[in-house]
Amino acid sequence: MFETTIAGSLPKPAWLAQPRVLWAPWRLFGETLVEAKRDATVLMVKAQEDAGIDIVTDGEQARRHFVHGFLEQIEGVDFARQATISIRNNRYNAEVPTVTGPVRRARSVHRFEAEIARSHTNRRLKFTLPGPMTIVDTIADEHYRDRPTLAMAFAALLNEEARELAEIGVDVIQFDEPAFNVYMEAATDWGIAALNRAVEGLRCKTAVHICYGYGIKANIDWKASLGPEWRQYAGIFPALAASRIDQISIECAGARVPIELLGLLNGKDVLLGVIDVASERVETREEVAATIERAARFVPAERIYPCTNCGMAPMDRTLAISKLGALSAGAALARGRLASQRQ
Ligand code: ZN
Repeated sequence: MFETTIAGSLPKPAWLAQPRVLWAPWRLFGETLVEAKRDATVLMVKAQEDAGIDIVTDGEQARRHFVHGFLEQIEGVDFARQATISIRNNRYNAEVPTVTGPVRRARSVHRFEAEIARSHTNRRLKFTLPGPMTIVDTIADEHYRDRPTLAMAFAALLNEEARELAEIGVDVIQFDEPAFNVYMEAATDWGIAALNRAVEGLRCKTAVHICYGYGIKANIDWKASLGPEWRQYAGIFPALAASRIDQISIECAGARVPIELLGLLNGKDVLLGVIDVASERVETREEVAATIERAARFVPAERIYPCTNCGMAPMDRTLAISKLGALSAGAALARGRLASQRQ
C-alpha cells in the first residue's frame, strides 16, 4: 500500500545539460552524448532506488524535453521550420517545430533509454510519453489544420511506441497531458478519445499525468491567478473515470485543489502529488503523510500511489533527491499509521 512513484523527469547531471533550465541544450555530441545519456539514466534509476521509490522511471535523461524528445524522431515534423507559438492558452511562448506532412513513426523513439532502465532495475518501471493533446498544443501545424485530427494521428504513433515499450518490459506507460487542465472542454470533446486510442490493446498499466506545470515562473504566475479554489479537475475527472486509463497522476501538494474532487475518479488508481516541484523547501514526512491521509478520505487507500506533483527536470539536483527521500519517508509514515488503525 502507498507504493511510491514519480511524475517522470529528474534533473540532468551538469555534464549532460545545463542545470535548472528547460529545453537545455546538450553539452556533448555524437557517441559521447549517447554514452552520457546511458550513464545518466543508470544514475537516476539508482538515485530513485536509493531514495526508496517503488515504481521508478528513466528520469527522462535521454530527451531534451518531454514533448520534443518524441517529435524529433517523427517523419512529417520539420525541426528546421521553427515557429514561436503561444502555448497552454497563451501562458507562455515556445519555439516549436512544424508539421509539414503526414506524421509517421519510422523507428523506435525511446527504446534505447527504456532498455537501459529496464536492465538496471528489478523494480517496476514506468515510462512517460507526451499525450496527444499536449503534443498538438506544443507544435505548429501546416498540414492537418485541425487539432482533433492531428491528435488522433499522433495517438496512433504513440500507441505503436507504447506497445514496443510494453514488450521490452515496461510496467506502466504514462501519457503527460498538462493541456487537459487548460482546455477542459476540448479534453472531454476529443482529448480523452485520443488518449483512449493511444492505449488501445496495451496490456501493461496505463496512466495519464495532469498537473499545473513545472515550477517555472510562467506557471507560478498562472496558478496565482486561478483564485482560492482550483476546480479545473472537476471538468475532466468524470470523463477520465469513464476512460480506458488505469491511473490518474495529479497535483495536490501546495495546490488549491479541493481534495473532494478526487472522489470523481471512482475506480481509478490515483498517483497523488505530495511533493511540490515549485517549492525549494523539502517537505517534512508529516506533511507528506498528511496529504496522503486527506486524499484517503475520498480514494480507497489501496488505490493511492504517492508521487511528485510534476516532473523535476528544471530543479536543483540535490534538492530533487532530498524531495524523493521525503516522498518515501512520508509514504512509510502514512502506511504505518494506517496499518495500526486497521489492527
Ligand atoms: Zn506535470
